[in-house]
Amino acid sequence: MAMHSKQVTRSDFDRLMVPNYAPVDMIPVRGEGSRVWDQQGREYIDLAGGIAVNALGHAHPDLIDALTEQAGKLWHVSNVLTNEPALRLAAKLVDATFADRVFFANSGAEANEAAFKLARRWAHETAGPQKNQIIACTNSFHGRTLFTVSVGGQPKYSQGFGPALEGISHVPYNDIAALEQAISADTCAVVIEPIQGEGGVIPAAQGYLASVRKLCDQHNALLIFDEVQSGMGRTGKLFAYMHSEVEPDILTSAKSLGGGFPISAMLTRDAIAAHFGVGTHGSTYGGNPLGCAVAERVLDIVNTDEVLSGVQHRYRLIADGLMGISADLPVFHSVRGQGLLIGAVLAEQWRGQARQIQEAAQREGLLVLQAGPDVMRLAPSLIIPETDIAEALQRLRKALVSLAG
Ligand SMILES: *Cc1c(COP(=O)(O)O)cnc(C)c1O
Repeated sequence: MAMHSKQVTRSDFDRLMVPNYAPVDMIPVRGEGSRVWDQQGREYIDLAGGIAVNALGHAHPDLIDALTEQAGKLWHVSNVLTNEPALRLAAKLVDATFADRVFFANSGAEANEAAFKLARRWAHETAGPQKNQIIACTNSFHGRTLFTVSVGGQPKYSQGFGPALEGISHVPYNDIAALEQAISADTCAVVIEPIQGEGGVIPAAQGYLASVRKLCDQHNALLIFDEVQSGMGRTGKLFAYMHSEVEPDILTSAKSLGGGFPISAMLTRDAIAAHFGVGTHGSTYGGNPLGCAVAERVLDIVNTDEVLSGVQHRYRLIADGLMGISADLPVFHSVRGQGLLIGAVLAEQWRGQARQIQEAAQREGLLVLQAGPDVMRLAPSLIIPETDIAEALQRLRKALVSLAG
């Protein structure tokens, strides 16, 4: 028990942890709905949502039930055995999407790693080893493993780690002419975020996804949608691709999928899945009963008219609120994104100050995110109460006034 009650503080982070993060100067200890409390008992409204993860807020009673019920039954059996929660979740994901087959992992990067390996394997077996080229977008983000930072379009994340992976190229997002130039018979996959999240909350332009689909079909390349951030109700549909007529060949989901419990999934069709035969790929924890039991409950709740239409409604409240603030204090150039993945682009005079805004908001009891130095990003709970939205906007206004002063 002595270990349990040891007092820890934010300064312990700087002493003990590998310094790859720079967390803010308070430590949250408890959450409920869209509010969290720190060690000193200060309360915050959470518009960050654990970076688009806590889809149903903190400590949702149904998720606590799902987790504790499963915790009393079976935690882990490995993939030498299958388990009921994994099969139930897979059936529901297949039912709700274009996909016939599911592979479970534990993080977005792992789901993408599986997607990229599957695409290469599929191409290798159906067309030969020369068909291995992956095309992704400049500024995209697909995770932090070596393969996923190499596919990601932000060189700062991939440089300085030794020889890069080969066979990967990048084209500007929303630029169909550039993709047309780059794609060839040797392309095995094109990877797209339907909304670029980390890259600044940039939605696909009207018609872009359909044009990408057409080019992929012409060149017999797979279309992969990375919906790690945009999926699971975030945009007001279960997956962002459902706003269009376009279906991918492979889709990855993570973040909101577990509502805060680590789990991810790669979805695909029968004919492609067949190229991951027994022993070709795997994960010790992927598809564990705890994660799958929680995700099944998240899916049951999120994939309803009530929650999904509520997302669209909440978008309006927040977007109007932000532009209202900006009418008095011209902080935001524009508001972009879809549903509850919102990017408020900073006006000229405020450029580069996203981190300062995040810190000022925190001083007023509000958690927000940034997506690069020029965009304030919001990714709150899909069921955040309207009263919390109103209160959050007031706190943001105060924070911005204090910064402007
Ligand atoms: C967060 C994110 C990832 C990486 O997910 P991890 O769980 O951090 O590995 C991949 N793709 C997109 C689009 C993301 O937003």
